[in-house]
Amino acid sequence: RFISLEGGEGAGKSTQLRALARILRERGLDVVETREPGGSDGAEAIRTLLLTGGADRWSPRAEALLFAAARADHVEKTIRPALARGAWVLSDRFLDSSRAYQGQGELSDSDILALHRIGSADFLPDRTLLLTLPDTVAAERARARDGDHADRIGDRDSSFHQAVADAFARFASLESDRVRAVDASGSADAVTERLIHALADLLP
Ligand code: C5P
Repeated sequence: RFISLEGGEGAGKSTQLRALARILRERGLDVVETREPGGSDGAEAIRTLLLTGGADRWSPRAEALLFAAARADHVEKTIRPALARGAWVLSDRFLDSSRAYQGQGELSDSDILALHRIGSADFLPDRTLLLTLPDTVAAERARARDGDHADRIGDRDSSFHQAVADAFARFASLESDRVRAVDASGSADAVTERLIHALADLLP
């Protein structure tokens, strides 16, 4: 199975991904943890291009193409081979991040989906777990975390983050079979439990 974790900055995606992976392994599953942008050699190289050089380095169109190219490589080199050998793949962000971040402003949601069709043949997660938090809490958490993250939160205003959150919420309501919103507030353990619950029908 292929599972993506989505949400804005500070929602706790990376922490939850690790916790989820541990629990699935305890249940005897082969689990691959991966992330976007990145997750394969080529895609990690593109990640460096995307997250360095400042927010103005790429035009919105060039940026969307780079994300789509990174995803194409990630799907082909990492995700599909892992699924083929029976592993579960957990990805920190996937297509819905591109739809939410790159798919507003100059490019529409259908533009991003068209890039995904060309790059990755419409490959979709079996389930997308959307971590949701009130905007203020998310910004607080994102600011508090250590400098290991290539955060671009400072380059973007709160209306941008609101638009991203709104886009994610729209996917959860329109594509409710695949995308499940999960409350990311409270303790990490409580959130992990909610995530497992949102996967229950897929678990062996
Ligand atoms: O996953 P993480 O929060 O570490 O994301 C790294 C940065 O890349 C964030 O600032 C995020 O907003 C940005 N990003 C983006 N478009 C994507 C995926 C991530 O702008 N499709």
